[in-house]
Amino acid sequence: MNTPLIDPFQRAITYLRVSVTDRCDFRCVYCMSENMTFLPKKELLTLEELDRMCSTFIRMGVKKLRITGGEPLVRRDIMTFFNGMSRHLEAGDLEELTLTTNGSQLARFAKDLYAAGVRRVNVSLDTLDEEKFAKVTRWGRLPQVMRGLDAAQEAGLKVKLNAVALKGFNEDELFTLTEFCRDRGMDLTWIEVMPMGDLGNEDRLDQYWPLTDLRRQLAERYTLTELAERTGGPARYVRLEETGQKIGFITPLTHNFCESCNRVRMTCTGELFMCLGQEDMADLRPALRNHPGDDAPLEAAIHRAIGLKPKGHDFDYSRQRPDGQMSRHMSHTGG
Ligand code: SAM
Ligand code: SF4
Repeated sequence: MNTPLIDPFQRAITYLRVSVTDRCDFRCVYCMSENMTFLPKKELLTLEELDRMCSTFIRMGVKKLRITGGEPLVRRDIMTFFNGMSRHLEAGDLEELTLTTNGSQLARFAKDLYAAGVRRVNVSLDTLDEEKFAKVTRWGRLPQVMRGLDAAQEAGLKVKLNAVALKGFNEDELFTLTEFCRDRGMDLTWIEVMPMGDLGNEDRLDQYWPLTDLRRQLAERYTLTELAERTGGPARYVRLEETGQKIGFITPLTHNFCESCNRVRMTCTGELFMCLGQEDMADLRPALRNHPGDDAPLEAAIHRAIGLKPKGHDFDYSRQRPDGQMSRHMSHTGG
């Protein structure tokens, strides 16, 4: 029996987010630059390595696995990985297998995902306007994502929409997005834009729409009831009394959620980030690759890494300057 993953601040690590690729079929302006250089394929963990890595974490107490990217559904043969993980669901060792996707490939994969044991998906969608969608994703097409949403719901997947709140971009869609989700029985979570990647010409302070403002606008039309629900992450939820909808707010910049943090993130190359807002990481790939057939060195490396999990992050917009800005892109750590 492995000792459970407890970090130095007595937080149990039960949630692993895994990026399975750094590639994507979109180029969202707040996430990627137009001309991205992606990792050479040989740097990536193979599907077998991803399986071994995740299975090791599950043996060590991880109960929830979220697959992300880049766009997870553009990784070749990704269903092989999902099908492999379903054995842990069947055995009762894993409680939830889920993914965050841009929705572009859901029409193709929704049924297979359900068959593999996935029950919920997060789909990122910032606007319901075709032209604005093309603009913010650069390469995306809205009708394709809409077909993906239909397919996901038809397959029986519960869908939550994630929208990045962008000043001057989707402020005017606060209510249309809310009503869209109400009509389709989907939850909606707003994410405050984070200072990831190189800001370059696209200074994200220009795009920063604080969720306190969004929430205030919502409260002008609806009665908001704060929900006690906590996920161990930066999300807070309210219920709209008039519609019964659940609306989430992810405010990593303005809220300190670190004390209840239960998660770590792994990149597609096997780097483990203990905190979204810190550069500290542990490279687990050598322990995996250099010891085929022996998981003990990998387990030791994971324990060492969790022992380095920091107390909290350093994001700070309070001085109107993105202090603590991270140099890596969201597509690298998987958001
Ligand atoms: N491609 C998938 C998707 O878009 O859902 C999964 C990966 S994406 C990096 C995960 C989430 O991160 C998406 O909801 C996306 O909107 C969000 N994201 C990307 N860059 C962000 C930023 N700078 N600030 C806040 N959220 C961001
Ligand atoms: Fe791709 Fe998701 Fe990043 Fe958009 S947010 S570029 S869909 S990885």
